[in-house]
Amino acid sequence: MQQQLLISSLLIHAERHHGEQEVVSRRVEGDVHRSTYRELAVRSRRMANVLAARGIAPGDRVATLAWNGYRHMELYYAASGSGAVLHTLNPRLHPDQVVWIADHAEDQILFFDLTFLPLVEAVASRVKTIKTFVLMTDRAHMPAASKVPDLLCYEELVADASDNFDWPQFDENTASSLCYTSGTTGHPKGVLYSHRSTMLHTYAAALPDALNCSARDTILPVVPMFHVNAWGLPYAACMVGAKLVFPGPFLDGKSLHDLFESEAVTVSAGVPTVWQGLLAHVESNDLKFSTMRRTIIGGSACPPAMMRAFQQRYDVQVLHAWGMTEISPLGTACTLKPKHHLLDEDERMALQAKQGRAVFGVDLKIVSEDGRELPRDGKASGELLVRGPWVIAKYFKGEGGNPLVDSWFPTGDVSTIDADGFMQITDRSKDVIKSGGEWIGSIDLENVAMAHPAVAMAACIGAKHPKWDERPLLLVVKKPGAAVTRNELIEFYDGKIAKWWTPDDVVFLDAIPLGATGKMQKNKLREQFADHELPTA
Ligand code: ADP
Repeated sequence: MQQQLLISSLLIHAERHHGEQEVVSRRVEGDVHRSTYRELAVRSRRMANVLAARGIAPGDRVATLAWNGYRHMELYYAASGSGAVLHTLNPRLHPDQVVWIADHAEDQILFFDLTFLPLVEAVASRVKTIKTFVLMTDRAHMPAASKVPDLLCYEELVADASDNFDWPQFDENTASSLCYTSGTTGHPKGVLYSHRSTMLHTYAAALPDALNCSARDTILPVVPMFHVNAWGLPYAACMVGAKLVFPGPFLDGKSLHDLFESEAVTVSAGVPTVWQGLLAHVESNDLKFSTMRRTIIGGSACPPAMMRAFQQRYDVQVLHAWGMTEISPLGTACTLKPKHHLLDEDERMALQAKQGRAVFGVDLKIVSEDGRELPRDGKASGELLVRGPWVIAKYFKGEGGNPLVDSWFPTGDVSTIDADGFMQITDRSKDVIKSGGEWIGSIDLENVAMAHPAVAMAACIGAKHPKWDERPLLLVVKKPGAAVTRNELIEFYDGKIAKWWTPDDVVFLDAIPLGATGKMQKNKLREQFADHELPTA
């Protein structure tokens, strides 16, 4: 049969086949809300009627500023399912950037959580196209007065709307959602996903050797729904009928651990910085994970020390995965092959530290600076190029021209690929340290530092050097109460890395700046240490 691949079909399936399955959310309001896929489907249909009544037409952008929660999930399906485009704004951005992005996207309506009322009050009079503002809460939590014009109440809109709504049928190539890259340089660029790209990505992401989602799982996505659709988990969960647990704004170690335990979470997903807080809490309170079996870590390289802690101390398997906004985001997942179970512990850890094998649908290759394809031998490293049905062909509104090179998308990452297809990122091209004409991968250097017991966080950048052009400078945040000296850290590299890769200097910092998606902002560090004088040997 010729059937269009539409996001609404996921919700219809979840309601029909997993109607009783739970969707649990810790709410901004402070309590824990319990719901089911059946209720979610009913409320999404009501919300689709609300959107239509508010004049949202197919193709219009429906913006959100929201945490992970059931109301956000309802909007995922109500907006995309009715043919509009869900635009997840990142609330951690500066208000000027939020205004710029909302204007660029030409958002028509904005739904936001209570937390973001001050942010919305700051931007409401500045955004050009947003006509309707909806606070995602009930009447009791609505502010008595607000600077936001004609502020509407989400729960009132849902209660007043009919749940009679037939999800429309349309071309699967219709746009479904929009997410802007974090834009570490220049303005952020929009990435527009389609129903087709999202559905194919969901099928692939759910597979056992990818994110391995099933009806037997309880999934808690820590990765925000405003960051590349929470890596597609809100779609995959409906596809397989998994129980979903949303943490709302409570992302500290204690809140997460409490929720893992009380809801019997089996799988979670997030960036390494989030897991640091969780591990610190679990370690210092001598806790365990009684149901958590797996955690998916990506967004930046997972330090092997973190992997060891999860696997060896807590019996939680780490699945390292790689992707980017431009590729929906999943590209690779590091699931081992049967022969790898014969490896000893250290060899297996080294393999798991790689970003993994291509998920079917994503084709990978590495090329030299002159564009020649490099061998898949695990040694040659070059720029990583990808292609596939959920990889962008151009940015929203054609911004930045044609990004493709011979029909491949250049990722800006530098990597190796081994004979078994395991890809390993050595750096982002703009973060590579160029020393005497050779490249030093900053991720390797950071991983060594992170394995030191006194180190909480480490970033390695290139500092100017009169002879070698650049040399590695290690920036370190110590664990509370821990002591380590510059020389001890430098000696810690002995035997762990090629001698000439050893950092020339170490500077201790109180904090490393993190961007809106929890990644280290190395461009800020490079600016801050632009004039750093390395010690002369
Ligand atoms: P942005 O590029 O805007 O920072 P993305 O979330 O799209 O935001 O980031 C994609 C980039 O994140 C990748 O190109 C890569 O550099 C990095 N990244 C993602 N996952 C990993 C990983 N597992 N290991 C190393 N780097 C990663």
